[in-house]
Amino acid sequence: MKRQKYGMFRSVLRCLRINPVAGHRSMSQSSLTGKVAIVTASTDGIGLAAAQALGKKGAHVVVSSRRQANVDRAVALLQSQSIQVTGTTCNVGKAEDREKLVALTLQKYGGVDILVSNAAVNPFFGNTMDSTEEVWDKILSINVKASFLMTKLVVPHMEKRGGGNVVFVSSVAGYQPMPALGPYSVSKTALLGLTRVLAPELAPSNIRVNCVAPGIIKTRFSSALWQNEDIMDEFKKQIIGEPDEIGGVVAFLCSDEASYITGETITVTGGMSCRL
Ligand code: NAP
Repeated sequence: MKRQKYGMFRSVLRCLRINPVAGHRSMSQSSLTGKVAIVTASTDGIGLAAAQALGKKGAHVVVSSRRQANVDRAVALLQSQSIQVTGTTCNVGKAEDREKLVALTLQKYGGVDILVSNAAVNPFFGNTMDSTEEVWDKILSINVKASFLMTKLVVPHMEKRGGGNVVFVSSVAGYQPMPALGPYSVSKTALLGLTRVLAPELAPSNIRVNCVAPGIIKTRFSSALWQNEDIMDEFKKQIIGEPDEIGGVVAFLCSDEASYITGETITVTGGMSCRL
């Protein structure tokens, strides 16, 4: 009997070693009412929809993007929906802008509970072998490095609040590289890795780190795909999604209902197959 108990104890320890998140978990988080959410690149498309979904669940949201006119428009739209919102310009590729975004959030709402890192660029279409160092620097800097650096900036503030949530926005292309989008696809695969790396490191601080991988969503960013009839014939038209179909999943991941989910990527693709 003693030996049996010892065997069980050893297998639990083995499981904890395999799953670095287990054993650190203390995940309960109250509703989003009163929570403070920073969403990057949130004046249009998926980011705006995520801000909207978080706001509708009661969070104070901070929207941002590179252009003041876009920020003003997004703030006015969310205010018209009775969402508590403030906004500022922030190009996530610039350290001073990232710092300004966090400083404004602290000044306005006194803390940070949620980061949705949504910004991405794709300056290149073509054969990957034709892509330049400049293209790789730009894509990895905005899509991957800035996501990490934003996380690094907000984590100390989440820790002061006793926990928080980080959500990265990847893509179906991170699983199945899209033709002519090689470097972008690689950057989106990297976010799956970043999610897995940070989740166990931040679990002891009660911070969950998750990711969503949208399929083809009808936004300006993807218009080259959904406005091209040949491409869409191939994809079959029904798989185009709307931004709020991603926003809702982001808000779910930041909510109490997802308290047992961390280190995970949820694919939201209308059935497109996703496998690495
Ligand atoms: P979108 O509708 O074109 O909106 C892009 C937003 O990003 C705008 O608010 C834009 O505003 C802002 N932005 C662009 N560069 C920025 C930068 N360097 N710093 C801060 N803000 C910046 O794009 P979307 O389709 O929603 O894409 C959002 C995310 O979803 C991206 O990570 C993308 O990779 C991912 N995604 C999209 C699809 C899709 O089919 N649409 C599929 C999978 C994944 P400003 O011009 O004012 O900066």
